[in-house]
Amino acid sequence: MKEKILIVEDNPLNMRMIEMVLERDYAVLKAENGEEALDIAIREQPDIIIMDIQLPGISGLETTRKLREIPAFRRTPIIGLTAYAMKGDKEAVIESGCDAYLSKPFDTRRLPGFIADCRLRKEKALKR
Ligand code: MN
Repeated sequence: MKEKILIVEDNPLNMRMIEMVLERDYAVLKAENGEEALDIAIREQPDIIIMDIQLPGISGLETTRKLREIPAFRRTPIIGLTAYAMKGDKEAVIESGCDAYLSKPFDTRRLPGFIADCRLRKEKALKR
């Protein structure tokens, strides 16, 4: 059975582009905002989460913080997608609980490799 990946993204075109590169390897779940992301995550228990940071309503930072408060999601790899270019904002993404981030715009073809690297690093870190 394919692993589940939850994509949280409010821009339909970005969502479609991300989905296209991941749907071959993963069962894709989609959420357009933070509230929906929390509902779907709790119901479906995804193996990985791709989290847009700029979302309508509660932000991706807040959604990530809320997920990390739930024991079932403490170890789930979460990759932030940020349009911010400033250094302090990148730190905020990591501080919220994201394991890594990609700055938009990025080549979506890089995403599978980026996810694989992120998971490897996280598994190693959790073994320490
Ligand atoms: Mn957005």
